[in-house]
Amino acid sequence: MSVRTRADLDALPSYVPGKTVPGAIKLASNEVSAGPLPSVVRAVAEAATAMNRYPDTGCVELVDRLADKLGVPADRIATGSGSVTLCQQLIQATCADGDEVLFPWRSFEAYPLLTHVVGAAQTRVPLTSGHELDLDAMLAAITPRTRLLFVCNPNNPTGTAVRTADLEAFVARVPDDVLVVIDEAYKEFVDDPHVPDGVEFAKTQWEQGRDNVAVLRTFSKAYGLAGLRVGYAVASERVVEALRKVYVPFSVNALAQVAAIASLDAEDELMERCRAIVAERGRVRDELVAAGFEVPPSQANFVWLPLGERTLAFNDHCLAHKVVVRAFAGDGARVTIGEPEENDAFLAAAKAWSAE
Ligand SMILES: *Cc1c(COP(=O)(O)O)cnc(C)c1O
Repeated sequence: MSVRTRADLDALPSYVPGKTVPGAIKLASNEVSAGPLPSVVRAVAEAATAMNRYPDTGCVELVDRLADKLGVPADRIATGSGSVTLCQQLIQATCADGDEVLFPWRSFEAYPLLTHVVGAAQTRVPLTSGHELDLDAMLAAITPRTRLLFVCNPNNPTGTAVRTADLEAFVARVPDDVLVVIDEAYKEFVDDPHVPDGVEFAKTQWEQGRDNVAVLRTFSKAYGLAGLRVGYAVASERVVEALRKVYVPFSVNALAQVAAIASLDAEDELMERCRAIVAERGRVRDELVAAGFEVPPSQANFVWLPLGERTLAFNDHCLAHKVVVRAFAGDGARVTIGEPEENDAFLAAAKAWSAE
């Protein structure tokens, strides 16, 4: 006899992380290319001397700092080891057998995997032809079994963003017992004033008595802490309480907590970096469009090239030019905006492709 694992897991594809190819430029995982700030490295190094101790499982200091920054009570904030674990916790907290999670597709690859692992059913709602979330179709897809839906804003991997007025009209029509999760992993790269700040949006909804709006944020992208794993959710007290119940004790480690706090201390410097990335995003998109590519306007730190059946060939072409992008076979390639020289290397590869 051998160990019996869940049969349904055999059919489940594994999460595919962006590739790291030695000697190549990695634009595959939406990381910030610039290294961590010296002040953050110092704080982590100092904290490392106490790693024989368990971390604060409540992340109290970090939660208090976030409560101050965001202007929400601490009992409306839950931390997780990356917002991806909070996605899983939110599904665990809302779905029992037979319940459904609804999300746009294509979107963040973790949504279908985590939904399956938790044991919930899933409904994928195709994007519009303009690569945007189809909010009307999402509304139409809600059933009495729907417990949670994800609004990835801006959407990974297409970079498109939902506007405030559209989100308001959408949420007004979602039943009260369905949790709307606004996943804002790329919020800090948004420069369109019509795109909402999810936390401010949620506050307005709560004031109107709609407690079914939650927001996910992460320190992995704009704050440059992808390797340390820390993110947070802002939600109603009831949802936060449920998130804490399904939290694996101590999973946000001590160094991640210290790094997140040090990053909040250095926020101005980090946001300056984001502004530079946003400027580069404009340049990269302009040059790609001039070279003949279709590129939906992006509000994130990446651009999307809907290359369809040519995607894998484009991926190979970029690899031959020592640039690693993220290919979704048959659909498109997502390219992270890096430092100017990295972007130049990618643009050179892309232009050589269109010249072929
Ligand atoms: C990167 C990403 C996350 C999660 O990142 P963590 O590193 O787990 O915090 C969540 N949602 C989206 C859409 C992402 O792209």
